[in-house]
Amino acid sequence: MHPVPNTIPFVTIPFINLKAQYAHIQPAIEAAIQRVLTHGAYIMGPEVFALEEQLAAFCGAKHVLSCSNGTDALVLALRAQQVGPGQAVFVPSFTFAATAEAVALVGAVPVFVDCLPTTYNMDPTSLEVAIRTAQRAGLKPVGVIPVDLFGQPADYDAIKAVGDPHHLWIIADSAQSFGATYKNRNVGTLAALTTTSFFPAKPLGCYGDGGAVFTDDEGLANLVKSLRCHGQGQDRYENVHIGLNARLDTLQAAILIEKLKIFPEEIQKRQQIAALYTSCLQDVVQVPYVMPEVTSVWAQYTVCLPEGIDRAKVIAHMEEAGIPTMVYYPRPLHRQKAYAAYPTAGRLAVCEKLATCVLSLPMSGYINRQDIQYITDTFIHVLKKGEA
Ligand SMILES: *Cc1c(COP(=O)(O)O)cnc(C)c1O
Repeated sequence: MHPVPNTIPFVTIPFINLKAQYAHIQPAIEAAIQRVLTHGAYIMGPEVFALEEQLAAFCGAKHVLSCSNGTDALVLALRAQQVGPGQAVFVPSFTFAATAEAVALVGAVPVFVDCLPTTYNMDPTSLEVAIRTAQRAGLKPVGVIPVDLFGQPADYDAIKAVGDPHHLWIIADSAQSFGATYKNRNVGTLAALTTTSFFPAKPLGCYGDGGAVFTDDEGLANLVKSLRCHGQGQDRYENVHIGLNARLDTLQAAILIEKLKIFPEEIQKRQQIAALYTSCLQDVVQVPYVMPEVTSVWAQYTVCLPEGIDRAKVIAHMEEAGIPTMVYYPRPLHRQKAYAAYPTAGRLAVCEKLATCVLSLPMSGYINRQDIQYITDTFIHVLKKGEA
């Protein structure tokens, strides 16, 4: 006998509806996979280069190098910038671990920066503090990795204004924001190097791991190209750098080519869903803030719960109603065991606060109006209960 729950949800809404997306494009995906199985070029097959051209055309970057995942994309970009021991690279603390991890993996020191209470992206004022912290610790500040959290580009102009006097390069960690724009420029062209991820849950995802590096600089592009394939030179058995095996599978490229075709339409739907969420929720919680002249691709729709609300209870009540929610991120990186010893720009009070109050609601291009109504009605009801 199975235990019977007290409340049987009459709907269960997927957090990210990849099944509905697959149903929408199934014949095209299956034909694309079949073509790869037939030609058999599983590594660096024609789809890999076709995808790179299409991604370049999509965002306007001169060079796109696909790779194995978003974390390796960061490692490749850092290696291309010749980052190493004794150097400080500034990263937000309120992000996915990969941003800081890549810095540590290449032997440099991640220095944690606070985020803005409005956009949750890197705070340029805190970056200034972090630069002084690094200098006092005897480190050489070399670069900064802003993260486009939840799909909204960081404030690149403001970050550049702080970094330029110190000759800092910028690597944009755009794992969550491919397809977004900043002051009429596309993600992929906002920094000397941009990295993204095609992890299935990202706005543009494949059916496994994948990533890419974007740059307008031919020298950097050639380095990344070599590094992703064991530091190869003119031919496969000439090695001119210590590199990685960090190529994108042909199968994943073939899948991405099909998904890229519907991506503009999906971005529009995500933006409509986000607008609907905001119109329903703006009076009860802190809804996401998108800067003027900036668009988000809504990797997550993340609200901040009011003081005094028990987040664990809210999550449990939502789940009882068949609505999954997620906490991105429950702990800032400077509070993680692996990263606790690295320098920070002071207390990082905003990161700490956000970790206690954020909650992400279901988001994909495949949620209908009734689902949004149900999610927001339930959420408002649950919050009222929580306040009582
Ligand atoms: C997902 C993500 C990554 C890492 O991407 P993978 O493809 O999972 O390696 C890096 N940075 C951020 C901000 C991410 O969200």
